[in-house]
Amino acid sequence: MPRHIRSAWFKTLASLAMVLLLAVAAGSLLGQPWMAVALAAIAALAWHYWRLRRVLRRLTARQRWDTEEGAGVWNELDRLLFRNQVEMRVRKRRLLDMLRSYRAAAAALPDAVVVLDRNSQRVQWFNEAATTLLGLHHPGDLGQALAARLQPMPLAHWLAGGRNAEPILDVASPVDPAIRLNLRLIPYSADHWLLIARDVTKLLRLEQVRRDFVANVSHELRTPLTVVHGYLDMMDPEDFPGTGPMLEEMRKQSQRMAQLVEDLLTLSRLESQEHTEEESVAMRPMLDTLRREAEAHSQGRHQISVEDLAGVDLLGSTKELHSAFSNLVTNAVRYTPAGGSISVQFRPEETGVVLVVRDSGYGIPAHHLPRLTERFYRVSSSRSRESGGTGLGLSIVKHILSLHQARLEIQSEVGKGSTFACHFDADHVRRREAVPLTHAED
Ligand code: ADP
Repeated sequence: MPRHIRSAWFKTLASLAMVLLLAVAAGSLLGQPWMAVALAAIAALAWHYWRLRRVLRRLTARQRWDTEEGAGVWNELDRLLFRNQVEMRVRKRRLLDMLRSYRAAAAALPDAVVVLDRNSQRVQWFNEAATTLLGLHHPGDLGQALAARLQPMPLAHWLAGGRNAEPILDVASPVDPAIRLNLRLIPYSADHWLLIARDVTKLLRLEQVRRDFVANVSHELRTPLTVVHGYLDMMDPEDFPGTGPMLEEMRKQSQRMAQLVEDLLTLSRLESQEHTEEESVAMRPMLDTLRREAEAHSQGRHQISVEDLAGVDLLGSTKELHSAFSNLVTNAVRYTPAGGSISVQFRPEETGVVLVVRDSGYGIPAHHLPRLTERFYRVSSSRSRESGGTGLGLSIVKHILSLHQARLEIQSEVGKGSTFACHFDADHVRRREAVPLTHAED
Protein backbone atom coordinates (compact mmCIF):
# COMPACT_ATOMS: atom_id res chain seq x y z
CA MET A 1 0.00 0.00 0.00
CA PRO A 2 1.46 3.46 -0.88
CA ARG A 3 2.59 5.58 2.05
CA HIS A 4 -0.02 8.38 1.64
CA ILE A 5 -2.84 5.82 1.72
CA ARG A 6 -1.40 4.21 4.83
CA SER A 7 -1.18 7.62 6.51
CA ALA A 8 -4.80 8.38 5.44
CA TRP A 9 -5.83 5.15 7.17
CA PHE A 10 -3.98 6.13 10.33
CA LYS A 11 -5.50 9.60 10.28
CA THR A 12 -9.01 8.14 9.97
CA LEU A 13 -8.34 5.70 12.82
CA ALA A 14 -6.81 8.49 14.91
CA SER A 15 -9.83 10.74 14.40
CA LEU A 16 -12.14 7.83 15.32
CA ALA A 17 -10.11 7.19 18.49
CA MET A 18 -10.18 10.92 19.25
CA VAL A 19 -13.98 11.06 18.95
CA LEU A 20 -14.33 8.03 21.21
CA LEU A 21 -11.94 9.52 23.80
CA LEU A 22 -13.79 12.84 23.77
CA ALA A 23 -17.04 10.89 24.17
CA VAL A 24 -15.56 9.01 27.18
CA ALA A 25 -14.40 12.33 28.69
CA ALA A 26 -17.72 14.07 28.12
CA GLY A 27 -19.68 10.99 29.29
CA SER A 28 -17.59 10.76 32.47
CA LEU A 29 -18.40 14.38 33.27
CA LEU A 30 -22.10 13.63 32.81
CA GLY A 31 -21.84 10.29 34.63
CA GLN A 32 -22.80 8.25 31.52
CA PRO A 33 -19.47 7.27 29.85
CA TRP A 34 -20.79 4.13 28.07
CA MET A 35 -23.81 5.89 26.75
CA ALA A 36 -21.62 8.70 25.37
CA VAL A 37 -19.24 6.14 23.71
CA ALA A 38 -22.17 4.28 22.15
CA LEU A 39 -23.64 7.54 20.79
CA ALA A 40 -20.24 8.62 19.41
CA ALA A 41 -19.73 5.19 17.76
CA ILE A 42 -23.22 5.36 16.17
CA ALA A 43 -22.47 8.91 14.91
CA ALA A 44 -19.10 7.80 13.44
CA LEU A 45 -20.75 4.78 11.77
CA ALA A 46 -23.48 6.98 10.31
CA TRP A 47 -20.90 9.41 8.93
CA HIS A 48 -18.91 6.59 7.30
CA TYR A 49 -22.14 5.09 5.93
CA TRP A 50 -23.04 8.50 4.43
CA ARG A 51 -19.62 8.78 2.71
CA LEU A 52 -19.92 5.24 1.35
CA ARG A 53 -23.33 6.02 -0.03
CA ARG A 54 -22.02 9.18 -1.66
CA VAL A 55 -19.30 7.21 -3.42
CA LEU A 56 -21.77 4.59 -4.62
CA ARG A 57 -24.14 7.29 -5.89
CA ARG A 58 -21.39 9.00 -7.79
CA LEU A 59 -20.22 5.73 -9.33
CA THR A 60 -23.69 4.69 -10.48
CA ALA A 61 -24.62 8.18 -11.71
CA ARG A 62 -21.36 8.27 -13.78
CA GLN A 63 -21.13 11.97 -13.00
CA ARG A 64 -18.03 14.05 -13.22
CA TRP A 65 -15.94 13.72 -10.08
CA ASP A 66 -14.98 16.67 -7.91
CA THR A 67 -12.23 16.07 -5.44
CA GLU A 68 -12.43 17.48 -1.97
CA GLU A 69 -9.58 18.64 0.18
CA GLY A 70 -9.04 16.48 3.23
CA ALA A 71 -6.80 13.84 4.62
CA GLY A 72 -9.14 10.98 5.49
CA VAL A 73 -9.44 7.66 3.76
CA TRP A 74 -12.66 8.74 2.01
CA ASN A 75 -11.00 11.75 0.48
CA GLU A 76 -8.16 9.52 -0.63
CA LEU A 77 -10.70 7.17 -2.27
CA ASP A 78 -12.33 10.19 -3.94
CA ARG A 79 -9.00 11.31 -5.33
CA LEU A 80 -8.17 7.81 -6.63
CA LEU A 81 -11.53 7.46 -8.33
CA PHE A 82 -11.17 10.94 -9.82
CA ARG A 83 -7.74 10.06 -11.20
CA ASN A 84 -9.08 6.81 -12.76
CA GLN A 85 -11.98 8.69 -14.26
CA VAL A 86 -9.71 11.26 -15.87
CA GLU A 87 -7.41 8.56 -17.25
CA MET A 88 -10.37 6.61 -18.65
CA ARG A 89 -11.73 9.73 -20.31
CA VAL A 90 -8.38 10.52 -21.94
CA ARG A 91 -8.01 6.91 -23.16
CA LYS A 92 -11.57 6.89 -24.53
CA ARG A 93 -11.02 10.19 -26.34
CA ARG A 94 -7.78 8.88 -27.86
CA LEU A 95 -9.52 5.70 -29.04
CA LEU A 96 -12.41 7.69 -30.48
CA ASP A 97 -9.99 9.97 -32.33
CA MET A 98 -8.19 6.93 -33.74
CA LEU A 99 -11.47 5.33 -34.78
CA ARG A 100 -12.59 8.58 -36.40
CA SER A 101 -9.34 8.95 -38.33
CA TYR A 102 -9.52 5.30 -39.54
CA ARG A 103 -13.09 5.84 -40.66
CA ALA A 104 -12.16 9.08 -42.38
CA ALA A 105 -9.30 7.30 -44.17
CA ALA A 106 -11.58 4.44 -45.29
CA ALA A 107 -14.27 6.93 -46.30
CA ALA A 108 -11.77 8.89 -48.40
CA LEU A 109 -10.46 5.82 -50.27
CA PRO A 110 -11.03 6.04 -54.02
CA ASP A 111 -12.12 2.37 -53.99
CA ALA A 112 -15.61 1.44 -52.81
CA VAL A 113 -15.37 -0.34 -49.45
CA VAL A 114 -18.40 -2.19 -48.05
CA VAL A 115 -18.39 -4.04 -44.70
CA LEU A 116 -20.74 -7.03 -44.81
CA ASP A 117 -22.09 -9.30 -42.12
CA ARG A 118 -20.72 -12.71 -43.00
CA ASN A 119 -23.85 -14.72 -42.21
CA SER A 120 -26.61 -12.51 -43.54
CA GLN A 121 -24.44 -10.77 -46.17
CA ARG A 122 -26.11 -7.52 -45.20
CA VAL A 123 -24.43 -4.13 -45.49
CA GLN A 124 -23.03 -2.82 -42.19
CA TRP A 125 -20.97 0.14 -43.36
CA PHE A 126 -19.77 1.66 -46.63
CA ASN A 127 -17.68 4.63 -47.74
CA GLU A 128 -18.39 7.51 -50.10
CA ALA A 129 -16.94 5.76 -53.13
CA ALA A 130 -19.51 2.98 -52.64
CA THR A 131 -22.16 5.61 -53.44
CA THR A 132 -20.50 6.76 -56.66
CA LEU A 133 -19.36 3.29 -57.84
CA LEU A 134 -22.05 0.94 -56.51
CA GLY A 135 -24.98 3.31 -55.93
CA LEU A 136 -25.35 2.57 -52.19
CA HIS A 137 -26.99 5.36 -50.17
CA HIS A 138 -26.98 6.36 -46.50
CA PRO A 139 -28.85 5.37 -44.43
CA GLY A 140 -31.39 3.40 -46.48
CA ASP A 141 -28.96 0.76 -47.68
CA LEU A 142 -27.51 -0.03 -44.25
CA GLY A 143 -28.82 -3.46 -43.25
CA GLN A 144 -29.84 -4.38 -46.83
CA ALA A 145 -28.80 -7.72 -48.38
CA LEU A 146 -26.01 -6.74 -50.79
CA ALA A 147 -26.68 -9.21 -53.62
CA ALA A 148 -30.35 -8.16 -53.81
CA ARG A 149 -29.46 -4.46 -53.57
CA LEU A 150 -26.90 -4.61 -56.43
CA GLN A 151 -29.24 -6.76 -58.51
CA PRO A 152 -27.85 -6.49 -62.04
CA MET A 153 -24.44 -7.65 -60.80
CA PRO A 154 -24.05 -11.43 -60.49
CA LEU A 155 -23.07 -11.34 -56.81
CA ALA A 156 -25.18 -14.00 -55.03
CA HIS A 157 -23.21 -16.97 -56.35
CA TRP A 158 -19.92 -15.13 -55.97
CA LEU A 159 -20.58 -14.16 -52.33
CA ALA A 160 -21.43 -17.80 -51.60
CA GLY A 161 -17.81 -18.61 -52.53
CA GLY A 162 -16.61 -16.57 -49.50
CA ARG A 163 -12.91 -17.08 -48.86
CA ASN A 164 -12.54 -18.95 -52.16
CA ALA A 165 -14.28 -16.31 -54.29
CA GLU A 166 -11.92 -15.37 -57.14
CA PRO A 167 -11.86 -11.61 -57.86
CA ILE A 168 -14.32 -10.47 -60.53
CA LEU A 169 -12.01 -8.71 -62.96
CA ASP A 170 -14.41 -6.73 -65.09
CA VAL A 171 -18.07 -6.04 -64.35
CA ALA A 172 -20.33 -3.10 -65.21
CA SER A 173 -21.24 -0.73 -62.36
CA PRO A 174 -24.96 -0.62 -61.50
CA VAL A 175 -24.67 3.20 -61.50
CA ASP A 176 -23.36 3.48 -65.06
CA PRO A 177 -22.52 0.52 -67.33
CA ALA A 178 -19.63 2.53 -68.80
CA ILE A 179 -17.86 2.30 -65.42
CA ARG A 180 -16.03 -1.03 -65.25
CA LEU A 181 -15.29 -2.47 -61.82
CA ASN A 182 -12.94 -5.02 -60.35
CA LEU A 183 -14.46 -6.72 -57.26
CA ARG A 184 -12.62 -8.44 -54.43
CA LEU A 185 -14.04 -10.14 -51.34
CA ILE A 186 -11.83 -10.17 -48.24
CA PRO A 187 -13.05 -12.16 -45.21
CA TYR A 188 -11.17 -10.18 -42.54
CA SER A 189 -12.74 -11.56 -39.35
CA ALA A 190 -14.96 -14.41 -38.22
CA ASP A 191 -18.09 -12.28 -38.67
CA HIS A 192 -17.22 -9.72 -41.29
CA TRP A 193 -16.33 -9.51 -44.96
CA LEU A 194 -14.91 -6.58 -46.83
CA LEU A 195 -16.01 -6.00 -50.40
CA ILE A 196 -13.70 -3.75 -52.37
CA ALA A 197 -14.73 -2.41 -55.77
CA ARG A 198 -12.07 -0.65 -57.84
CA ASP A 199 -12.78 1.49 -60.87
CA VAL A 200 -10.69 -0.08 -63.67
CA THR A 201 -12.33 1.80 -66.56
CA LYS A 202 -9.17 3.77 -67.40
CA LEU A 203 -6.94 0.73 -67.03
CA LEU A 204 -9.11 -1.32 -69.39
CA ARG A 205 -9.22 1.56 -71.86
CA LEU A 206 -5.42 1.80 -71.80
CA GLU A 207 -5.20 -1.95 -72.30
CA GLN A 208 -7.55 -1.59 -75.29
CA VAL A 209 -5.41 1.27 -76.69
CA ARG A 210 -2.33 -0.94 -76.36
CA ARG A 211 -4.08 -3.84 -78.09
CA ASP A 212 -5.37 -1.60 -80.87
CA PHE A 213 -1.92 -0.09 -81.32
CA VAL A 214 -0.23 -3.48 -81.70
CA ALA A 215 -2.99 -4.69 -84.03
CA ASN A 216 -2.81 -1.52 -86.17
CA VAL A 217 0.98 -1.50 -86.41
CA SER A 218 1.01 -5.19 -87.33
CA HIS A 219 -1.69 -4.63 -89.89
CA GLU A 220 0.14 -1.66 -91.43
CA LEU A 221 3.38 -3.66 -91.62
CA ARG A 222 1.75 -6.58 -93.33
CA THR A 223 1.38 -5.06 -96.83
CA PRO A 224 4.89 -3.51 -97.16
CA LEU A 225 6.38 -6.76 -95.90
CA THR A 226 4.46 -8.78 -98.46
CA VAL A 227 5.77 -6.47 -101.20
CA VAL A 228 9.39 -6.72 -99.97
CA HIS A 229 9.04 -10.45 -99.60
CA GLY A 230 7.53 -10.76 -103.09
CA TYR A 231 10.36 -8.78 -104.77
CA LEU A 232 13.01 -10.71 -102.85
CA ASP A 233 11.47 -13.95 -104.08
CA MET A 234 11.58 -12.66 -107.67
CA MET A 235 15.27 -11.76 -107.47
CA ASP A 236 17.52 -14.42 -108.92
CA PRO A 237 21.06 -14.57 -107.45
CA GLU A 238 22.36 -15.43 -110.89
CA ASP A 239 21.32 -11.98 -112.14
CA PHE A 240 23.34 -10.36 -109.34
CA PRO A 241 26.59 -12.29 -109.05
CA GLY A 242 28.04 -12.46 -105.52
CA THR A 243 24.79 -11.54 -103.78
CA GLY A 244 23.56 -15.10 -103.21
CA PRO A 245 24.16 -15.37 -99.45
CA MET A 246 22.97 -11.80 -98.93
CA LEU A 247 19.71 -12.44 -100.77
CA GLU A 248 19.21 -15.66 -98.82
CA GLU A 249 19.66 -13.83 -95.50
CA MET A 250 17.29 -11.05 -96.60
CA ARG A 251 14.65 -13.63 -97.52
CA LYS A 252 15.07 -15.39 -94.18
CA GLN A 253 14.76 -12.16 -92.18
CA SER A 254 11.78 -10.87 -94.15
CA GLN A 255 10.08 -14.22 -93.60
CA ARG A 256 10.77 -13.96 -89.89
CA MET A 257 9.27 -10.46 -89.81
CA ALA A 258 6.21 -11.66 -91.72
CA GLN A 259 5.79 -14.50 -89.19
CA LEU A 260 6.16 -12.03 -86.30
CA VAL A 261 3.47 -9.78 -87.76
CA GLU A 262 1.16 -12.75 -88.31
CA ASP A 263 1.70 -13.93 -84.71
CA LEU A 264 1.05 -10.43 -83.34
CA LEU A 265 -2.17 -10.19 -85.33
CA THR A 266 -3.25 -13.64 -84.11
CA LEU A 267 -2.58 -12.61 -80.49
CA SER A 268 -4.51 -9.34 -80.87
CA ARG A 269 -7.45 -11.23 -82.36
CA LEU A 270 -7.40 -13.81 -79.56
CA GLU A 271 -7.14 -11.13 -76.87
CA SER A 272 -10.18 -9.26 -78.12
CA GLN A 273 -12.20 -12.47 -78.33
CA GLU A 274 -14.35 -13.43 -75.35
CA HIS A 275 -15.65 -16.70 -76.71
CA THR A 276 -14.65 -19.07 -79.41
CA GLU A 277 -16.52 -21.24 -81.86
CA GLU A 278 -18.16 -24.35 -80.46
CA GLU A 279 -17.92 -26.81 -83.31
CA SER A 280 -17.04 -30.46 -83.14
CA VAL A 281 -13.27 -30.77 -83.56
CA ALA A 282 -12.47 -34.09 -85.25
CA MET A 283 -9.39 -35.27 -83.41
CA ARG A 284 -8.40 -38.14 -85.68
CA PRO A 285 -7.68 -35.91 -88.73
CA MET A 286 -6.19 -33.35 -86.34
CA LEU A 287 -3.68 -35.89 -84.99
CA ASP A 288 -2.88 -37.02 -88.56
CA THR A 289 -2.15 -33.43 -89.54
CA LEU A 290 0.05 -32.93 -86.47
CA ARG A 291 2.02 -36.07 -87.36
CA ARG A 292 2.54 -34.87 -90.94
CA GLU A 293 3.62 -31.43 -89.74
CA ALA A 294 6.07 -32.90 -87.21
CA GLU A 295 7.56 -35.15 -89.90
CA ALA A 296 7.85 -32.30 -92.37
CA HIS A 297 9.63 -30.15 -89.76
CA SER A 298 11.86 -32.92 -88.53
CA GLN A 299 12.97 -34.05 -92.00
CA GLY A 300 13.64 -37.51 -90.58
CA ARG A 301 15.90 -36.27 -87.78
CA HIS A 302 13.62 -37.45 -84.94
CA GLN A 303 11.55 -40.44 -83.91
CA ILE A 304 7.94 -39.30 -83.99
CA SER A 305 4.92 -41.07 -82.50
CA VAL A 306 1.29 -39.94 -82.38
CA GLU A 307 -1.22 -41.89 -80.29
CA ASP A 308 -4.96 -41.49 -79.94
CA LEU A 309 -5.97 -43.21 -76.69
CA ALA A 310 -9.01 -41.06 -75.96
CA GLY A 311 -11.15 -41.95 -78.95
CA VAL A 312 -13.22 -38.79 -78.49
CA ASP A 313 -13.48 -35.41 -80.18
CA LEU A 314 -13.26 -31.94 -78.73
CA LEU A 315 -15.70 -29.05 -78.69
CA GLY A 316 -14.23 -25.74 -79.84
CA SER A 317 -12.58 -24.08 -82.79
CA THR A 318 -10.72 -26.51 -85.10
CA LYS A 319 -8.58 -23.71 -86.53
CA GLU A 320 -7.50 -22.34 -83.18
CA LEU A 321 -6.90 -25.70 -81.54
CA HIS A 322 -4.85 -26.78 -84.54
CA SER A 323 -2.80 -23.60 -84.23
CA ALA A 324 -2.15 -24.30 -80.50
CA PHE A 325 -1.26 -28.00 -80.90
CA SER A 326 0.83 -27.28 -83.98
CA ASN A 327 2.80 -24.64 -82.03
CA LEU A 328 3.63 -27.20 -79.36
CA VAL A 329 4.63 -29.85 -81.89
CA THR A 330 6.78 -27.37 -83.86
CA ASN A 331 8.50 -26.28 -80.63
CA ALA A 332 9.16 -29.91 -79.71
CA VAL A 333 10.90 -30.48 -83.07
CA ARG A 334 12.81 -27.18 -82.89
CA TYR A 335 14.10 -27.65 -79.37
CA THR A 336 15.08 -31.31 -79.71
CA PRO A 337 18.45 -32.15 -81.25
CA ALA A 338 18.64 -34.67 -84.10
CA GLY A 339 18.22 -38.26 -82.93
CA GLY A 340 15.74 -37.32 -80.18
CA SER A 341 12.14 -38.46 -79.91
CA ILE A 342 8.83 -36.60 -79.97
CA SER A 343 5.52 -38.09 -78.91
CA VAL A 344 1.99 -36.70 -79.15
CA GLN A 345 -0.59 -38.47 -77.02
CA PHE A 346 -4.32 -37.74 -76.79
CA ARG A 347 -5.67 -39.61 -73.79
CA PRO A 348 -8.52 -39.58 -71.27
CA GLU A 349 -8.03 -38.39 -67.68
CA GLU A 350 -10.28 -38.15 -64.65
CA THR A 351 -11.63 -34.67 -65.37
CA GLY A 352 -11.76 -34.86 -69.19
CA VAL A 353 -9.05 -35.39 -71.79
CA VAL A 354 -5.47 -34.26 -72.25
CA LEU A 355 -3.25 -33.75 -75.29
CA VAL A 356 0.38 -34.27 -74.31
CA VAL A 357 3.36 -33.25 -76.47
CA ARG A 358 6.56 -34.77 -75.07
CA ASP A 359 10.10 -34.40 -76.36
CA SER A 360 13.54 -35.62 -75.34
CA GLY A 361 15.10 -32.25 -76.16
CA TYR A 362 17.16 -29.57 -74.41
CA GLY A 363 14.66 -29.04 -71.60
CA ILE A 364 13.99 -25.79 -69.77
CA PRO A 365 15.48 -24.70 -66.39
CA ALA A 366 12.75 -24.68 -63.70
CA HIS A 367 12.94 -20.94 -62.95
CA HIS A 368 11.89 -20.10 -66.54
CA LEU A 369 8.72 -22.22 -66.45
CA PRO A 370 6.33 -19.73 -64.76
CA ARG A 371 7.16 -17.00 -67.33
CA LEU A 372 7.26 -19.16 -70.45
CA THR A 373 3.83 -18.11 -71.75
CA GLU A 374 4.62 -14.36 -71.55
CA ARG A 375 5.01 -12.65 -74.93
CA PHE A 376 8.54 -12.56 -76.25
CA TYR A 377 9.81 -14.59 -73.29
CA ARG A 378 12.57 -16.88 -74.45
CA VAL A 379 14.84 -19.20 -72.53
CA SER A 380 17.60 -18.75 -75.07
CA SER A 381 17.09 -15.90 -77.55
CA SER A 382 19.78 -17.11 -79.92
CA ARG A 383 18.42 -20.68 -80.07
CA SER A 384 14.87 -19.35 -80.55
CA ARG A 385 15.90 -16.95 -83.37
CA GLU A 386 18.10 -19.54 -85.01
CA SER A 387 15.15 -21.88 -85.21
CA GLY A 388 12.87 -19.14 -86.59
CA GLY A 389 10.95 -18.52 -83.33
CA THR A 390 9.09 -15.28 -82.64
CA GLY A 391 8.70 -15.74 -78.86
CA LEU A 392 4.92 -15.51 -79.20
CA GLY A 393 4.04 -19.18 -79.77
CA LEU A 394 3.32 -20.24 -76.19
CA SER A 395 1.48 -17.00 -75.49
CA ILE A 396 -0.84 -17.85 -78.41
CA VAL A 397 -1.24 -21.41 -77.07
CA LYS A 398 -2.20 -20.11 -73.61
CA HIS A 399 -4.80 -17.70 -75.03
CA ILE A 400 -6.36 -20.35 -77.24
CA LEU A 401 -6.57 -22.82 -74.38
CA SER A 402 -8.11 -20.30 -72.01
CA LEU A 403 -10.76 -19.51 -74.65
CA HIS A 404 -11.56 -23.24 -74.45
CA GLN A 405 -11.49 -23.18 -70.61
CA ALA A 406 -8.50 -25.51 -70.90
CA ARG A 407 -5.18 -25.26 -69.06
CA LEU A 408 -1.55 -25.66 -70.14
CA GLU A 409 0.74 -27.64 -67.85
CA ILE A 410 4.49 -27.55 -68.50
CA GLN A 411 7.05 -29.94 -67.04
CA SER A 412 10.67 -29.96 -68.06
CA GLU A 413 14.09 -31.12 -67.03
CA VAL A 414 17.28 -29.74 -68.53
CA GLY A 415 18.97 -32.30 -70.74
CA LYS A 416 16.05 -34.73 -70.51
CA GLY A 417 13.21 -33.02 -72.32
CA SER A 418 9.89 -31.25 -71.87
CA THR A 419 6.21 -32.12 -71.62
CA PHE A 420 3.45 -29.71 -72.60
CA ALA A 421 -0.02 -30.96 -71.59
CA CYS A 422 -3.30 -29.32 -72.65
CA HIS A 423 -6.04 -30.33 -70.17
CA PHE A 424 -9.66 -30.07 -71.37
CA ASP A 425 -12.62 -30.47 -69.02
CA ALA A 426 -15.48 -32.91 -69.66
CA ASP A 427 -17.68 -30.10 -71.04
CA HIS A 428 -15.37 -29.84 -74.05
CA VAL A 429 -15.35 -33.55 -74.86
CA ARG A 430 -17.55 -34.94 -77.66
CA ARG A 431 -18.31 -38.59 -78.34
CA ARG A 432 -16.80 -39.96 -81.55
CA GLU A 433 -18.63 -42.55 -83.59
CA ALA A 434 -15.63 -44.26 -85.18
CA VAL A 435 -13.20 -46.70 -83.50
CA PRO A 436 -10.06 -45.13 -81.98
CA LEU A 437 -7.02 -45.32 -84.19
CA THR A 438 -3.39 -45.52 -83.12
CA HIS A 439 -0.57 -44.12 -85.18
CA ALA A 440 2.88 -45.14 -84.15
CA GLU A 441 5.99 -44.67 -86.15
CA ASP A 442 9.46 -45.51 -85.10
P1 ADP B 1 9.63 -19.26 -79.71
O1 ADP B 1 8.98 -18.75 -80.91
O2 ADP B 1 10.85 -18.53 -79.29
O3 ADP B 1 9.80 -20.74 -79.71
P2 ADP B 1 7.56 -19.78 -77.78
O4 ADP B 1 6.62 -18.85 -77.11
O5 ADP B 1 6.99 -20.86 -78.62
O6 ADP B 1 8.59 -18.90 -78.56
O7 ADP B 1 8.44 -20.46 -76.67
C1 ADP B 1 9.03 -19.64 -75.69
C2 ADP B 1 10.37 -20.24 -75.26
O8 ADP B 1 10.12 -21.46 -74.56
C3 ADP B 1 11.25 -20.60 -76.41
O9 ADP B 1 12.07 -19.53 -76.79
C4 ADP B 1 12.07 -21.75 -75.86
O10 ADP B 1 13.19 -21.24 -75.19
C5 ADP B 1 11.16 -22.38 -74.81
N1 ADP B 1 10.52 -23.62 -75.32
C6 ADP B 1 9.31 -23.76 -75.87
N2 ADP B 1 9.05 -25.04 -76.16
C7 ADP B 1 10.14 -25.75 -75.79
C8 ADP B 1 10.51 -27.14 -75.83
N3 ADP B 1 9.67 -28.06 -76.32
N4 ADP B 1 11.72 -27.49 -75.35
C9 ADP B 1 12.55 -26.56 -74.84
N5 ADP B 1 12.28 -25.24 -74.78
C10 ADP B 1 11.09 -24.83 -75.25
